[in-house]
Amino acid sequence: MNPDRVAAALAEVRQRIDSVLRPWSHPVQIVAVTKGFGPEAITAASAAGATAIGENYAQELLSKRDAAQAANVEVQFIGGLQRNKVRQLVGLVDVWSSLDRRSVIDEVAKRAPGAQVQIQVNATGEAHKSGAAVDEVHALVRHAQDLGLGVVGLMAVGPTEGGPGAARPAFARTRSLVDELALERCSIGMSADLEVAVEEGATEVRIGTGLFGQRPTR
Ligand SMILES: *Cc1c(COP(=O)(O)O)cnc(C)c1O
Repeated sequence: MNPDRVAAALAEVRQRIDSVLRPWSHPVQIVAVTKGFGPEAITAASAAGATAIGENYAQELLSKRDAAQAANVEVQFIGGLQRNKVRQLVGLVDVWSSLDRRSVIDEVAKRAPGAQVQIQVNATGEAHKSGAAVDEVHALVRHAQDLGLGVVGLMAVGPTEGGPGAARPAFARTRSLVDELALERCSIGMSADLEVAVEEGATEVRIGTGLFGQRPTR
């Protein structure tokens, strides 16, 4: 992990965002997705000026606890979350960004009262994608709010097939839900489709390979 390379890649991502920003666009935060890399990726992203990191696996994040806590970044959990992992992650995760069902929302509300969360939406409707169905999102947001959680936004992943353009309808759908629910954040867009996401109103893009290169295989 070469910190200068990460800094250069971050500047490049920032440029890609700026190239499609319009005067009325929302400001866009880059979430550096550090899954698959060692703690030095978190340190390098933070040193380069990234304000948030995203991790997908509880055990992996726990193994990078020191780097995550030393770095001056918001730590987001963006992966499939099992109820029994929540307790271990309390104090380490700042934003629980992948909540998609009541049982996990209930557990976060119990173990991390008042925490900031995002609801993950399956905006493409693909059968094997995580995220709540579009027509469940309002009820889940209300449920989380009723339990005292701070629902800051929605998170969605584009379609697996079809290239960046194919993501547009799913991103637009997610943005509409964010607006209907009067939430702040719209976390859409990854390395391959960030321009489409920004055009559709992203306030966050989640970037892994675009910053750190190809992930080592797990
Ligand atoms: C891995 C991952 C990313 C980053 O994907 P890249 O294509 O490497 O930018 C973003 N969001 C989620 C939910 C992920 O699991």
